[in-house]
Amino acid sequence: MSVYDQRPWLALYPPGQPADIEPEYANTVAMFKATVARNPDGDALRYFDGRITFAELDALSDAFAVALAEHGFAPGDRAALYLQNVPQFVIAQLGIWKAGGIAVSVNPMNRERELRELLNDCGATVLVCLQGLYRDVAGKVVGDTAVRTVITTSELEYQTRNDPRVLGGVEPVACEGTLDMAGLLERFSGRTPAPVELKPEDVAFLTYTSGTTGPPKGAMNTHRNVVFNARTYRDWVGLGPDDVILGVAPLFHITGLIGHIAAGLLTGAPLVLMYRLDPQVTIETVRAERATFTVGSITVFIALMNAPNADREALASLTKIYSGGAPIPPSTVKAFQSAFGHYIHNIYGLTETTSPSHAVPLGADAPVDPASGALSVGVPVYNTVVRVVDDDGRDLPPGEIGELVTSGPQVVAGYWNKPEETENALPGGALRTGDVGYMDSRGWFYLVDRKKDQINAGGYKIWPREVEDVLYEHPAVREAAVVGVPDPYRGETVKAYVSLRPGTSATAEELIAFAKERMAAYKYPRQVEILKELPKTVTGKLLRRELRERASGSS
Ligand code: AMP
Repeated sequence: MSVYDQRPWLALYPPGQPADIEPEYANTVAMFKATVARNPDGDALRYFDGRITFAELDALSDAFAVALAEHGFAPGDRAALYLQNVPQFVIAQLGIWKAGGIAVSVNPMNRERELRELLNDCGATVLVCLQGLYRDVAGKVVGDTAVRTVITTSELEYQTRNDPRVLGGVEPVACEGTLDMAGLLERFSGRTPAPVELKPEDVAFLTYTSGTTGPPKGAMNTHRNVVFNARTYRDWVGLGPDDVILGVAPLFHITGLIGHIAAGLLTGAPLVLMYRLDPQVTIETVRAERATFTVGSITVFIALMNAPNADREALASLTKIYSGGAPIPPSTVKAFQSAFGHYIHNIYGLTETTSPSHAVPLGADAPVDPASGALSVGVPVYNTVVRVVDDDGRDLPPGEIGELVTSGPQVVAGYWNKPEETENALPGGALRTGDVGYMDSRGWFYLVDRKKDQINAGGYKIWPREVEDVLYEHPAVREAAVVGVPDPYRGETVKAYVSLRPGTSATAEELIAFAKERMAAYKYPRQVEILKELPKTVTGKLLRRELRERASGSS
């Protein structure tokens, strides 16, 4: 039995925290229904000045489920959500589950190519989408996919005060040939969907991630995964019905899906949806709503710190703060604490671990790795075993650096329709994270590197291949290689090295503009450097590491 099986980290758990827990609910709908029964009149969602109670959310999602069934949606079918942080996201997601379906979340920054690929990969037959996104992107794409039903909606729907700083300029858009979500909800209001059986191993949502390799794939987060990690937030973070969740993470990302939506549905804590990250509006919202809890990435906390209206009084209620998705330097945690009096707890996980596998217990102070200066990502949460292994998969002793391999009830079943990638990433059901780090003798974990080529721009993940593929579409590009380079705000950003075809010409600015037009805003290269030749091995394999070193100025 290796040291990891002995789980030394259990000694670091807060008093009374069990090593293991039993499942409480078979699926997310049962979990939600228990909260509706306990707390029907409590706010489930708040959005600007709009409020939706748990009982109302139940009725709205019932109507949505009936509408889906009336349009031929059957259990196991996929419906994609192409939305910002709006109440319709949660109404539709619950409605999809009540109809026995799988909710597929799509980054609203995705452009035509990305949306087309995703819809074709998951085979969604329904698309729920903001009107503006339909006009600008989805309307040009759905004809190439299996989508039969498009339901459009407006971000103006659940609020009456059109806050000019955030929703300024948003107007209703006529979307011909689509169904209007508000109209559907009204038409089917008061109806209850036919009961469907949702088993713990059924897929609740597909969450697209580049994983450790290849193009984005749909991680299959099951109902068991979701219910388990909602509970991690309740019991580990101590989230209860008296808390108020500040919803700053994007809902399409696993952090928002679990740390905002699922955590709220389980505990009955209201979820205050922030349409997009406007630091000043966010701070005013914390003050007005007395928000107590949030989870987001480092960019959120840096933005809040730099907002002109940020002060101790405004942020006084926000005592339970978690940062995940990207590294957070100890200096940022210190600066935040000395400015506002609140400690930022590190939390770590992947899409494939349905959000947290590790967290810093509430109230604990995470140690710092003396060699790299990295803040500990915490300790594995209950029922979870994480090992550090060498290249042959053998356990390494505490203190030695290797790849983190995670097993637990939050680890996904695999990737949608990708048996080979599933087998590579999850041999025997344990997840090879592609993250490199170590466990100290007490059981604290630290990340020091990555095995995967993924670039992490403040929590947004970019797979170099996706960017390179777009650059190759430019007629002057002969070779393209994309790497992550240090960035003071996002931690990392995207840089492309390119060589040109003989007899052609292109400037760096031109290539940046070309890429920008064709992909989500966080992905396009901020810098392009044109080289005569890209460095390669004698066998012609690209030396990405050499380019990375060149980019960070060390060679
Ligand atoms: P995603 O699938 O988008 O959630 O990305 C997961 C990846 O984000 C992990 O494999 C890590 O590389 C990185 N990550 C997540 N949380 C943290 C954290 N607290 N500190 C450092 N990196 C993190």
